[in-house]
Amino acid sequence: MARRETPAAGPGSRALVVDVIRSAGTISRVELAGLTGLTQPSISMIVRILIADGVVHETGSAGSVRGKPRKLLAITPAGRFGIGFHLGVDALTCVAVDLTGGVVGREVVPLDGDDPGGDDVAARLADRFRDFTDGLDLPTSRIEGLAIVAATARPGREAAGPDLNAVRAELAGRLGIPVLVENDAAAAALGEFWSRRVSRDQSFAGIYLSTGIGAGLVFGGALFRGTSVDAGELGHFSIHYDGRPCPCGNRGCVERYASMTAVADTARADADLAGRLRLEGSVPEVYDAVARAAVSGDPGAYALLDEAAGRLAVAAASMVNLLDVGRLVLTGPGVAVAGSIFAQRVRGQLARSVHARHRREVMVELSAQPRDAASIGAAALVVQASIAPAS
Ligand SMILES: [Zn+2]
Repeated sequence: MARRETPAAGPGSRALVVDVIRSAGTISRVELAGLTGLTQPSISMIVRILIADGVVHETGSAGSVRGKPRKLLAITPAGRFGIGFHLGVDALTCVAVDLTGGVVGREVVPLDGDDPGGDDVAARLADRFRDFTDGLDLPTSRIEGLAIVAATARPGREAAGPDLNAVRAELAGRLGIPVLVENDAAAAALGEFWSRRVSRDQSFAGIYLSTGIGAGLVFGGALFRGTSVDAGELGHFSIHYDGRPCPCGNRGCVERYASMTAVADTARADADLAGRLRLEGSVPEVYDAVARAAVSGDPGAYALLDEAAGRLAVAAASMVNLLDVGRLVLTGPGVAVAGSIFAQRVRGQLARSVHARHRREVMVELSAQPRDAASIGAAALVVQASIAPAS
C-alpha cells in the first residue's frame, strides 16, 4: 500500500484505521501508522477508543522490539452485527453477519403470493426482522442496522419494482435502527470486498449473474455509484452492434445473451435439450437444470453455458479495461452451480486481451456463497456504514 499524506485525526481517520485492520487481518500499531500515514499518538488514541467500543481487540504478538512484545490488533467479529434482506424473484433471504462479514444466521422465506410491494410492506418487513433476530438470539443493542437490497433498487431514488426508499424511513422508525436501501449487485460486491479483506487501494469489481446482470464497483473502499446512482449496469454493455434488441433501448446487450433468463429462454427453445433435460418451471429452475447437466457432462448444456460465459467474458474484459480493475469476483445465483465454466472463460479472456496484462494479472475469483451474496453484502453494508463509513 502506498503511503498517504498525513490525514487529520478526525472521523475519517477512525474509518481508515478500521478498514486497514480489516484488510490486514491482524496488524501492529506501528504497521498501522505506516499504512495510514497517521502519527503514533493518533493511532494509539483511535485504537484505544475502538477497543473500548468493542470493534477491535488485541491478539497475540508480532515478536518483540527491545524485549517489549508488540501486540497485534484485529477486528472483534462478534462485537456487533449487521442484518441484510435480499428481496429476490421468489424469496426473501435474511442474513446476519458479524463485523468481519462472517455469516452468523440465515433464513430464506418464500414469497409465494406475498406481494413485497403491498401497502403494509414496512410492517411486514419489520415483523420479519424481529422474527429473524429473535430466532438468532442477537442482542438488539448489538444490531447496527438493516439493509434491504433488490435488483431494481437504487439508494435514495425511485426505481422500478417495490419502492424500498419509500418504506425506508417508516421501517427505521418502527425498528429504531438505521435502514439502508441498495442495489443487489452493488451490495454483493461490497460484501465480497469486505469479507475477502480486499485492500481499499485495490480497484475491485463484482459481477452479479442473476435473471439480469449487474456489476458492483468498489473504489477506495467505497461503492462507486455514478452521477445518478446508476453505475454498474454491466448487463447493458453492448457486445453486438446489430444484436438482439433490449428493452433498455440498446441492441446487443450482454444481458440478452448471458443472463439466467437468456440461457433459460435459449434452452427452452431447443427442443432436443428441453426434452432431454425435461426443462420446465421458472427461469431459475430451468437455468439450474441446464447448469447441473453442463457440469455433469451433457455436451449440449455445456455448449450453451460456455457460450453465455464467453459473451459475459467479453463484457467483463471491456469493464476491466475501462476501469483498470485489479480484482474481480463472479457471484450471484447464475454462478452457483456452473461457476467454474464462467470463471474459466473470464480468466481466459482477460489473460488474452486485457490491456494491463503485461503489467499485472487480474485476479478472477468465484464467490463462496453466490446465492446469498446479495443478502450477505447488504449486511456487510450495514457493518461498513457503522464502523468504517466510506467518506
Ligand atoms: Zn440493454
